[in-house]
Amino acid sequence: MLNLVLFGPPGAGKGTQSAFLVQEYSLIHLSTGDLLRAEIAAGTPLGMEAKQLMDQGLLVPDSVVIGMIRNKLEQNTQAKGFIFDGFPRTVEQANALDALLSEKQTAISAMLALVVSEEELVKRLLNRGKDSGRSDDQDESIIRKRITEYNQKTAPLAEFYANQGKYIPIEGIGAISEITSALKTAISKL
Ligand code: AMP
Repeated sequence: MLNLVLFGPPGAGKGTQSAFLVQEYSLIHLSTGDLLRAEIAAGTPLGMEAKQLMDQGLLVPDSVVIGMIRNKLEQNTQAKGFIFDGFPRTVEQANALDALLSEKQTAISAMLALVVSEEELVKRLLNRGKDSGRSDDQDESIIRKRITEYNQKTAPLAEFYANQGKYIPIEGIGAISEITSALKTAISKL
């Protein structure tokens, strides 16, 4: 199986690049942000609870997102592989993902990390907020809070995967197609 973690701060281009990689390698795209927004749209209790945190730019509890990923892995037993987008975001989530995949006799192949400066992220997210309909993209203080959460809780995962020899940084600024090519080149070497 090809199991990729597409990593990077909010606004790094994970969603955009996932769409290309999913097509190219026939992977299943698992975005915890998308799954949470679907819960909100469906008006479920879980969605309502998550919304409170998401609207403040805070992470939702590990147990919630780990449960969602567990369900998706169980629903897709025939998959060729997965692309994890926005997950894992904490060391606890990364450990849980390793355990879930090892139950399926598989593992993460690589963490592809899109590297983008903070000022570029804020600019991109404010721009996306104009038509994404996402309230967390429309307020600069919430965007900065999300980046702080990323720096504190999520950035340490680069070292987590580096220790497993799986961390691959990719320049995340430039033409979208060039970034896709850089990702494909990295994947071809796995
Ligand atoms: P995203 O679409 O990945 O930018 O996620 C939007 C929001 O959903 C984040 O700011 C968090 O509040 C929440 N979220 C998404 N994925 C996770 C995760 N893996 N762990 C905790 N919170 C998450």
